[in-house]
Amino acid sequence: MPPIESPEATSLESELARRVQSLETVLATVVDFNYSFDREGRFSYVNKALADLLLRTPASMIGLNFHELGYPTELATRLQRQIEFVFTTGETLRDETPFTAAGGETGYYEYVFVPAFADDGAINMVAGSTRDITERKRIELALKESEHKLHDQEERLRLALNAGNCGTWDWDVATNRVTWSERVYDLHGIKPGEFNGAVEDFTKLIHPDDVHRVAETIQACLTKGGDYAVEFRVPHLNGDIRWLSTNGRVIRDGEGRPIRMVGTTWDTTDRKETEKNLLQQAEDLWRSNQELAEFAYVASHDLKEPLRKVANYAQLLVRRVSNDIDGEGQRYLDHIQGGLERMQHLIDDLLAYSRLSNGEKQSQTVEIDEVLTQVTGDLETAMAQSGATITRDALPTVSANPLHMQQLFQNLISNAIKFRDSRAPVIHVSAVEKDGLCVFSVADNGIGIEPKYLDQIFKIFHRLHGRERYTGTGIGLAICKKIVETYGGKIWATSKPDAGSTFFFSLPRA
Ligand code: ADP
Repeated sequence: MPPIESPEATSLESELARRVQSLETVLATVVDFNYSFDREGRFSYVNKALADLLLRTPASMIGLNFHELGYPTELATRLQRQIEFVFTTGETLRDETPFTAAGGETGYYEYVFVPAFADDGAINMVAGSTRDITERKRIELALKESEHKLHDQEERLRLALNAGNCGTWDWDVATNRVTWSERVYDLHGIKPGEFNGAVEDFTKLIHPDDVHRVAETIQACLTKGGDYAVEFRVPHLNGDIRWLSTNGRVIRDGEGRPIRMVGTTWDTTDRKETEKNLLQQAEDLWRSNQELAEFAYVASHDLKEPLRKVANYAQLLVRRVSNDIDGEGQRYLDHIQGGLERMQHLIDDLLAYSRLSNGEKQSQTVEIDEVLTQVTGDLETAMAQSGATITRDALPTVSANPLHMQQLFQNLISNAIKFRDSRAPVIHVSAVEKDGLCVFSVADNGIGIEPKYLDQIFKIFHRLHGRERYTGTGIGLAICKKIVETYGGKIWATSKPDAGSTFFFSLPRA
């Protein structure tokens, strides 16, 4: 006969069931998963959430351990050991683990295993609860990563500042106090503690002649915005005067009011010294160039007079003795006259060259078309003798001294006529516009030039041929170079032996 259940017992049981259910509901809100294990480390209770995570039902998990549930071996072994640990020691255990759920997503889980004691003090089960901490972990990792990055950046900045012997400063505009890195104290020649951070005291460290400029720069930066950059001198206690360079940037609040100014300072004394020396050297060089040009001018000018006298007397001598001397004597006289003529050319060219060094640009609009008409008129005889033809494209106007332009084209075209082979010279002048400049070209069909000598020919007195074959002083192209460079242009040539040459030069457009 089955035992008769008393009504009290039934109501007690239902009350108990109700409590368990509400406890489970509470648990479910506090933690994601809860469960318990028996002595063998097998599930004795599993809530629905955990079963869902493993794509199972709670009932199908009861009586199984982590290995049997197909957890990765390493994790299952660790968890089983931890359950055993709680059973043997009676201690609560907390841990966390990554876990890839049946859905494929890897999450982070924090879990706690707690012993449950029976009345006799023995542990009869271990209760567990697990919480999904994936999001927290993600934030923690991101924080750690940005901390690392920040640290790396700081380290790199510190190294860069050290390498550049650079100090940093930070000026709090509201309190009007400046904080310096240790290096800035060195740069000012004082020790930490000798400057208290007050801006007024900072100005006392600056050379009196520079204080006003520094203050103005700071003020302009605060009011008008932009970056702050200024160089100033700092007298050190040992008597040295050092140049410091400082760069800064203003940090403003939401309304654009300056709140802080941060920046770097470094020593530029050596650079300043080098700059000063270079400037001095450039000045010396310019002066000695001027003196040299002056000397060349005066020398060639003064040589003209005695030369004229020698030439005149030589001519008189020729007239007087020409009937009385023999063939050899006549040859000597021809040599004298030839030498005198060459010397006259040389002196004229030298004078023209040195005049360019002293002369002014005096630029005006010049029609190159007209210049070319004039030049071909002047070279009429040479053109007729050689049978030269000159063609030209439409030529632009430039901004230059017309006499310079005449000299330039005259030298290039007379060279194009002079350095010819057996053929009659065919010369073409054209111009294109490039980067706001006019690039002219004078092309001929003459003897051409070895490419390796193309740079040499623009140097004064550099000639590639003997005087017996082609007359000349070796100054013409040097004059052309000087003229073109006076206007900020360039001159160059392309050529091959026996294939003609083309001379190019650039000049500013009118
Ligand atoms: P010069 O004409 O008095 O010799 P330049 O300074 O005008 O001096 O020219 C230097 C040298 O460059 C010339 O001696 C010659 O060897 C070479 N050269 C100049 N123009 C031409 C050209 N159009 N064709 C071939 N060679 C040339």
